[in-house]
Formats: sequence, structure tokens, C-alpha cells
Amino acid sequence: MIKLEDINKTYYNGSPLHVLKGIDLDIHKGDFVSIMGASGSGKSTLLNILGILDNYDTGVYRLNDVLISNLSEKRAAEYRNRMIGFVFQSFNLINFKNAMENVALPLYYQKISRKKRNIMAMEYLDMLGLKEWAHHMPNEMSGGQKQRVAIARALIANPQIILADEPTGALDSKTSEEVMSILKDVNKKGMTMIIVTHEKAVGEKTDRTIHLKDGIIESITQN
Ligand code: ADP
Ligand code: MG
Repeated sequence: MIKLEDINKTYYNGSPLHVLKGIDLDIHKGDFVSIMGASGSGKSTLLNILGILDNYDTGVYRLNDVLISNLSEKRAAEYRNRMIGFVFQSFNLINFKNAMENVALPLYYQKISRKKRNIMAMEYLDMLGLKEWAHHMPNEMSGGQKQRVAIARALIANPQIILADEPTGALDSKTSEEVMSILKDVNKKGMTMIIVTHEKAVGEKTDRTIHLKDGIIESITQN
């Protein structure tokens, strides 16, 4: 599904910083993978390239056999919206929309009617145990609940891959375990999932861990 060959990325604002140094990676449909490494090792940069949020300089990235490079902004956005769901450390919910409206948002961009969007959003909230919270605003919810809303929002567009950058980074350890167990369940239904984390306990919940060090894959371990 995902194939990276010799991917390199340098940031040029200020003195050049070579952040990814020849990354090779294969990810298959249904994989549950974590990317671990110290702060600054290039984890988010790698995830952003996988998510077509950022460009790479040299190398080859194929997603479902489509070459991801030099895509126009518009094509990149189309591909990203169709293929990839994102989950972030800070949840990235819209604070002036309730849980249901947040979950329904990706469907708005697919031009689905409001009525159908809301029905589907309720189904996904129900699936994540949040039906009673549908009409609550993000600031009325706990961190774990907000992350479940974000997961529902990522799932509703029926992506082929979920990318999560430190999804448990803002949560206590018990809530963190709950969120990981939800992500595991989603993966068991066939979703391909890649999670960035610096927490060993989180990484170990996935099937395979890629250890990044200074922009190089140091090792890959099966958990
Ligand atoms: P991680 O997620 O592993 O902490 P990042 O991929 O965020 O690492 O960052 C890797 C390195 O690249 C860090 O030194 C960071 O400061 C730098 N970096 C990240 N994003 C940018 C950017 N947009 N411009 C310049 N430097 C950046
Ligand atoms: Mg990061």
C-alpha cells in the first residue's frame, strides 16, 4: 500500500537541516505500525510526508501504486481527503462546533446533505460510545472523549489509512490505554494504521515498531 524508497528531506529555513536521510519503508494493507524515536528524530516529518501534508526532496513515495510527487496542490488535497484520515495530539476539533458537527465535517467536503451527514455522524459517535455527547461542545469534554470524537471524524470519510501523530500525547496513562485499544479495534476491522509516539507502552500496542534515529531507520521490531 505504501512504499518509500530512499526518501530525503531537508528544511531550508535557516541553516539547512537534513531531517530524513534515505528512508525505505513498506507498509501493507491492514498493518498496525508505530514510528518511535527521540524528539527531533524526524517522526512528524515522516508522517507528514506519508499524509501528503509535506513534500520530500528526493526518493520515491508510492501510495497504492500512485507516485506521490509533484502533485498539484489541488490533486494532493483530493488524494489526501480520499485516502487518509488524521488524528493529532491536540485533537484539532473545531471549538465552535459540537461533537456531531465535528465528526460530520469531512462529509461536508464530499457534498453530502446535512441530514445524511448528521445521521452518519451519529452512527460513528455511537460506535465510539459517545452518542450522549453528540450535542456537547469540545470544551465540555475530557481529553479522551475529544480524541474519540477526532477518531470518529477520521473514520467517517472511510479512508484507507489512518495516520496519528502522538494520539495519546495529551492523555493520562489510563485514557491513553483506552484510546490505543480503540485504535487496535479499528485496525482489527482492517484499517491500516500508522502511529507516531515517543511512549514505549504505546508503541508496544502496535504490531511493528519502526525506530527512527536522527532521520535514519535504526531498526524495525515486531511486538
Ligand atoms: P519529531 O516529530 O521526531 O520530534 P520532527 O519531524 O518534528 O521531529 O522534526 C525533525 C527536525 O526538523 C527537528 O529538528 C525540527 O526542529 C525540524 N523541523 C521540523 N519542522 C520544520 C520546519 N517546518 N522547518 C524547519 N525545521 C523543521
Ligand atoms: Mg513530532
